[in-house]
Amino acid sequence: MGRKVAMLFSFLLCYSLLAQSNYTAQRKRMVDNQIKARGIDNVTTLYALLNVPRHLFVPEDLKPLAYNDNPLPIGNGQTISQPYIVAYMTQALRLKKDDRVLEIGTGSGYQAAVLAKIVDSVYTIEIVEELAMSAKERLRNLNYSNVVVRRGDGYNGWPDKAPFDAIMVTAGAEYIPQPLIDQLKVGGRMIIPVGPHNQVRQLVLITKKKNKVVKRNVMAVRFVPFTREE
Ligand code: SAH
Repeated sequence: MGRKVAMLFSFLLCYSLLAQSNYTAQRKRMVDNQIKARGIDNVTTLYALLNVPRHLFVPEDLKPLAYNDNPLPIGNGQTISQPYIVAYMTQALRLKKDDRVLEIGTGSGYQAAVLAKIVDSVYTIEIVEELAMSAKERLRNLNYSNVVVRRGDGYNGWPDKAPFDAIMVTAGAEYIPQPLIDQLKVGGRMIIPVGPHNQVRQLVLITKKKNKVVKRNVMAVRFVPFTREE
């Protein structure tokens, strides 16, 4: 009996190790073919994408698709962005280790985990209670101790933790929320998809200078909408 249990146990162990190395290989291919191949070359961004286990941020039945070149549904009508978009937005923020970063739209927590591999502190706000709860639990289980998740309407930012070196909005807004600009440090960067509801939007990269706010459209993108609390 004891031997059978031991055999079963070692079989399971081998199986999970194989599955694990399979995901590691898929992740390496994702970084090479989808991200480096399209010109992302920031070393810390590539490191983060290579090391965050994206398959643990998608629903169980979609795990085999986790490293595909597209967004995926994560429940509550929301999606986890395409890996390339995650990488592009991350690189665009020109992050440094001691930066304090705010994300609006936690979703699965994947983008927050990517940011957490690069900077010391990440604050992230999610409007859907269920997603905020599950992302918080997932990030805790995976030991991302430098991410703080809060449920709320990200329109208002996080005044208690401001100012931020960088802000990333991962839901498509119709215009740029002023409180977010206000909570950016001078020299700070923000990236946000902006445009009319349910249409292709422009990813806008914003730099806050001493006396002005510089905005530049960098790419056309599709995002789930930025919603507001009643
Ligand atoms: N960054 C996520 C994907 C985000 S999808 C990931 O890595 O998985 C966009 C998310 O923004 C959704 O979960 C949506 O509920 C959330 N959202 C939309 N409007 C919001 C708002 N006003 N404040 C905070 N979160 C918002």
